Amino acid sequence: MGLNGAVIAGSHNAAVGLPAAWEILAAGGTAVDAVEAATRLVEDNAADHSVGYAGYPNLLGEVELDASIMDGSDRRVGAVGALKGHRHPVSVARAVMEQLPHAFLVGEGAARFAADLGLQTEDLLTEETRRIWREGIEGKFPGKLELFREPLAQLTALAADPMHVAGTVNVVARDSRGHVAVAVSTSGWAWKHPGRVGDSPVVGAGIYADDRYGAIGCTGLGELSIRSGLARDVISRLAGGQDLASAGRAALDDMASMAAHVGSAAVMNMVTLDRDGATAAFSTTPDAHYVVMRDGSTEPEKIASLYVKWPGTETAAGKERGA
Ligand code: ASP
Repeated sequence: MGLNGAVIAGSHNAAVGLPAAWEILAAGGTAVDAVEAATRLVEDNAADHSVGYAGYPNLLGEVELDASIMDGSDRRVGAVGALKGHRHPVSVARAVMEQLPHAFLVGEGAARFAADLGLQTEDLLTEETRRIWREGIEGKFPGKLELFREPLAQLTALAADPMHVAGTVNVVARDSRGHVAVAVSTSGWAWKHPGRVGDSPVVGAGIYADDRYGAIGCTGLGELSIRSGLARDVISRLAGGQDLASAGRAALDDMASMAAHVGSAAVMNMVTLDRDGATAAFSTTPDAHYVVMRDGSTEPEKIASLYVKWPGTETAAGKERGA
């Protein structure tokens, strides 16, 4: 492989970030720098309501972001959960990894750390996302914008519809020195319960990287990948000698029974690469794709994800949403 197997791959919505990140790799930069750079561009993308600025808010109309980054060379990791007021949670996560003796900060503590880094806060809601949030609440609970005085738990169950209003960006990379890295960033489910943290910053669930085997990023119903330890499961299967295609399929197959209990909301996608720089993506919705750049690429190449059917979960809505 050219450039000694350097490659970057991401979920379909990572396409806006891949060319700049590829330049970093092509110039001999690190996988960690490349995945952060790609993710930041997606976090800036106001047209993407699943990540960063203009991400959909929680039940109370607050944008709460989750993100993580992992360096496969030493398996250091940084993660933030339910971070408010900062559009680049991936960079706060990287600072957690590099500057703190911790791996994971959440909520007010994560915001405090971001302020200590000198980062300015901003309102991440746009006119459009504020309107969609309000219409979602009014559509589901007519005349009940006062609902916030009531316990939120039941409302969350009714409001959250990850088939339509979730999404995440995953970026995996291998640099020319053979190091791998992954970054994941999301605003999580729209209308989620305040404080809900999905799989994106949960190491071993939504993210894992290990130079010896590869790198994995997940999007989908985070509660399922948390329950299965999905990203780490794929890595363990690679460590056991399976190739990427069979490791990814087997890990998703293993989740089929728990997905069946969740019904049509059960969706999972993964973008993966192995230590040699081979890539593959997996989706439980048909016709999904991911994007890749490697030596010779002039733009992100769209490649079909491998479809893994979860019995009882396939719907037209899921198909629209696919990665
Ligand atoms: N995995 C994300 C979460 O559960 C959402 C998604 O990828 O659709 O927050």
